[in-house]
Amino acid sequence: MDIQVNMERLKKDLQELSQIGRDTAGGISRPSFSKADFEARRWLKDKLKTAGLKIREDGAGNIFGRIEGKGKTVMAGSHIDTVINGGMFDGALGVLSALECLRRVKEEKLSLSKPLEVASFTDEEGNLAGDFLGSRAFIGTLNKEILEKGKTQFGTSLSQTLKDTEFSLESILEAHKHQPELEAFLEIHIEQGPVLETEDKPIGLVNSIAGKHFWLCSFRGEASHAGTTPFELRHDAFLGLSDFALKCTQYVATHHYGSMVTVGKVYLHPGAFSVVPGRADFTLDFRSQSQKTLQELEKYFPSVAQDISSTRGLKFSSKIIDKTEPVAMPERIVEVMKKNCQENDYPFMVIPSGAGHDAQILAGVTDSGLIFIPCEDGISHSPQEKIDWKDLKKGANLLLHSLIRLAE
Ligand SMILES: [Zn+2]
Repeated sequence: MDIQVNMERLKKDLQELSQIGRDTAGGISRPSFSKADFEARRWLKDKLKTAGLKIREDGAGNIFGRIEGKGKTVMAGSHIDTVINGGMFDGALGVLSALECLRRVKEEKLSLSKPLEVASFTDEEGNLAGDFLGSRAFIGTLNKEILEKGKTQFGTSLSQTLKDTEFSLESILEAHKHQPELEAFLEIHIEQGPVLETEDKPIGLVNSIAGKHFWLCSFRGEASHAGTTPFELRHDAFLGLSDFALKCTQYVATHHYGSMVTVGKVYLHPGAFSVVPGRADFTLDFRSQSQKTLQELEKYFPSVAQDISSTRGLKFSSKIIDKTEPVAMPERIVEVMKKNCQENDYPFMVIPSGAGHDAQILAGVTDSGLIFIPCEDGISHSPQEKIDWKDLKKGANLLLHSLIRLAE
């Protein structure tokens, strides 16, 4: 296909949006429904309008720009919210590339049979009520309880956050009611890992997205004096956690290579120089492309913790905070993208994703596809997030050509 994205315009859009929500720490802080986010929303709607797209915003704050057609809608997008002090490409790149694709279709007056839409989903980063608030609202899998439990990391509830805005818990729950039927959903995103860069490939075609479990866990022992309590009489909760973290990591690395387990946050109580820790609270994050593996690990981790507890005289408890299932991306979409890569001589590799994306939520209602481009050193969620514009040019053109194929 001869049609190409206008790379200068796309670059300019990314740079412009990156000025909204600048953090004094050097990055971008644009959580959904913040002041910066509302400014970014106005900016985006302005761009959609200038591009001649029909704008729609739902009760969850998801923003859409549409080119009319007949039949089911072919949609592409991502999110414009960021983590606190994040980078300029995570999410924004997917929304603005999709916008650029639709602009090019309009400029070339291509007559495609199906409608095309660009989508920007609210709170993908989960700053408010768990990951993917907007896309989950879009497909209708939220409930009141999830929203009422939602809190920002600063302790504000979701309903407080929405006060004085045009949105409410009710409007979020209603958001899915007037959605168009979808033919397919495509997303382009930075990889957020080092594989493409290491393999020297500008394009990754994602064939599956890992399922993940977030648990809050705790070992309870007994706090005692660090100078006077002999080792054999201690019930050291931190040593229980150390055994646990090592054992679990070794087990996953040897029996389920490619799956992941991480202890990311630890609180020791009482937390002092001279006291043997009586309690260790920690987060447990484990992910896999295989549902069978996740089910096995769900049983394995507590049983290891019980063994350690009985040896060390501890008590173990755990609570599931969040849980998503692995998603296999449909062959049909991967094939369309492969064909486009081959025709354009874009080097690519088929790759699983360890991180979650809106595309995995959309996969619940339509055929969903995800394109990765490399990011320098695999860094994301950081002001250091960086891409090579040449990779984006290939990725955005691949998105354009794939949208055209699907909408023809
Ligand atoms: Zn993202």
